[in-house]
Amino acid sequence: MSRFWNKLVATLDPYVPGEQPRIQNLVKLNTNEHPYGPSPKVLAAIAAHTNDSLRLYPDPTALVLRQAIAKRFGLTPEHVFVGNGSDEVLGHAFHALLKQDSPVWFPDITYSFYPVYCGLYQIKFRAIPLDERFKVLVNDYLPDAVVQVALDSVGGAANRSAAASPRASVAERAGGIIFPNPNAPTGCANPLTEVEQIIAANPDIVVVVDEAYVDFGAQTAATLVEKYPNLLVVHTLSKSRSLAGLRVGYALGHPDLIQGLDRVKNSFNSYPLDNLALAGATAAIEDEAYFEASRNAVIRTRDALTTGLQDLGFEVLPSAANFVFARRPGHKGADLASGLRAKNIIVRHFNKPRIADFLRITVGTDEQCAQLLTACRELVVGQ
Ligand SMILES: *Cc1c(COP(=O)(O)O)cnc(C)c1O
Repeated sequence: MSRFWNKLVATLDPYVPGEQPRIQNLVKLNTNEHPYGPSPKVLAAIAAHTNDSLRLYPDPTALVLRQAIAKRFGLTPEHVFVGNGSDEVLGHAFHALLKQDSPVWFPDITYSFYPVYCGLYQIKFRAIPLDERFKVLVNDYLPDAVVQVALDSVGGAANRSAAASPRASVAERAGGIIFPNPNAPTGCANPLTEVEQIIAANPDIVVVVDEAYVDFGAQTAATLVEKYPNLLVVHTLSKSRSLAGLRVGYALGHPDLIQGLDRVKNSFNSYPLDNLALAGATAAIEDEAYFEASRNAVIRTRDALTTGLQDLGFEVLPSAANFVFARRPGHKGADLASGLRAKNIIVRHFNKPRIADFLRITVGTDEQCAQLLTACRELVVGQ
């Protein structure tokens, strides 16, 4: 706290990313990075740069990358917005599209950056509870839904305890909707038909589908972009393209939505992607064969990891992502997380209502997952 901060800064509750420890031989399964590297063509494209790539400003419109993305999805570059990681793209979407008079709706258990943006941009929100199986229920997002909401889920610092608060039924229209599909940190996906129902039922507000993990087993809503002018689909190269360190994400939507994002971007930082990121990301998008092979490897390992955990008595939510969300009845999540840590394995634990006994475990290499299973066996079965 400083007397030089403005009033808003003093109220912020910033996002806390998973740790990036510099410890040797750590089995790092806490931040959903891809276990294998990016396409070798990415490194080659970055290595091919010359002096001018650094001396000159990059293309502020990122046209070559937007063309590559548009081609992959059968769209035009006017349907594509790019940013420094999808976190930045999401930030602009909150600022430009989801900040409305009525609150933005999102699930109570979801990506914890959403309430952070609401704090920064002063956006009201409603946290809509997942059902008891941790699923997003379509009926809760229809315009006339009478939603069970936490009483204090609108505005400011009170948002933090939303899920623990007393509940009330309110009839209220959303000013915008955002949810990840698959959801995070549960890993559960809704079928595209259900996602489309939400988009179609809310033609007067923007629906943002955050598809950070879609390539690991869910159906993308990118195919609906030309049909629904209120749909924005957000993707990242951090997860399925193994480029978390390059910081590239993008949005697909009607050109009117993309222009709204551009207006905010160009009022903030008109050169968000540097030349190395533009070249690397374009190479990654174009290498479809590598992408297919590497995501399929993660999916196979995930399925083996799920079975291995179930054999140890864990309940594992059905995952369409590159992580699993699991709990072991009889064991506290915090104890399991610290027990694993003592064995040099880090996973993510959220000390939040409803999910405090779960661990979010990133799918690593087969060897890392075997090490995790051995450690879990020692913790829950003893040897
Ligand atoms: C990882 C993640 C992102 C953002 O990733 P970037 O690295 O900023 O592209 C966005 N949404 C969800 C749900 C995520 O898990």
